[in-house]
Amino acid sequence: MKYVGAHVSASGGVENAPVNAHNIGAKAFALFTKNQRQWVSKPLTEKSIALFKENCEKFGYKPGQILPHDSYLINLGHPDSIALEKSRNAFLDEMQRCEQLGLDRLNFHPGSHLKKITEEACLTTIAESINLTLDKTKGVIAVIENTAGQGSNLGYKFDHLAYIIDKVEDKSRVGVCLDTCHTYTAGYDIKTEAGYKHTFDEFDSIVGFQYLKGMHLNDSKKELGTRVDRHHSIGQGFIGEPLFKRIMNDARFDDIPLILETPDDSLWAQEIALLYSFVEANHPA
Ligand SMILES: [Zn+2]
Ligand SMILES: [Zn+2]
Repeated sequence: MKYVGAHVSASGGVENAPVNAHNIGAKAFALFTKNQRQWVSKPLTEKSIALFKENCEKFGYKPGQILPHDSYLINLGHPDSIALEKSRNAFLDEMQRCEQLGLDRLNFHPGSHLKKITEEACLTTIAESINLTLDKTKGVIAVIENTAGQGSNLGYKFDHLAYIIDKVEDKSRVGVCLDTCHTYTAGYDIKTEAGYKHTFDEFDSIVGFQYLKGMHLNDSKKELGTRVDRHHSIGQGFIGEPLFKRIMNDARFDDIPLILETPDDSLWAQEIALLYSFVEANHPA
């Protein structure tokens, strides 16, 4: 099964996210469980948690179809110990919110070295942050997203993801999310048929498809290797439709949330329908 959806709004309460997803014909969704631009948010209320679960049940969303995203402020590889502690506390809160909502995975950007420490030191700090958080939580997988490599953000090479995973003690609770826009602008040419094959073979040998817990389906406003993160609507950017046709007919992307983070939310229902229309008869959606 292909579970295609979008990163929908949870404004007014997390319980609204499954409703918003259902309204655009999504079979998967992403959400923020708190304000993504603030360090501290109010705890989830019992009522909100119960309604979230009720709405997911009502519209047929199981945990494997939901990929919550953490706050943009968090940097689990921060070079400064006080700032690192702040990020670790916020990340723990995010993981605990997922636990409360009965969710099984949390998507996050690995972290940035801010040009103050080496890439390796930063990646090691990120792995330690994950280990500390997994020790204090249960049942939620920490899902590392690959990045475009903008600024000093790490995670733009498959080797970075593998390096972190290698240092995580509980391998059953670490995973990755590949963002197609980030993959492309980080320099992996997934646009051509040969590039697609090569990139995902490389991903499989360096990281392994068993760790793939979600995808972000975005076209790109920037060209291959620019290391800039600017999403575009499906088919309107430099990547184009053929990549998404290949993904929709590739069983390696079955049974995980495939999430649009494209800029024009008025197009999401159409984009989801378009993606499902790519599925060829011999490949059940
Ligand atoms: Zn993404
Ligand atoms: Zn992005």
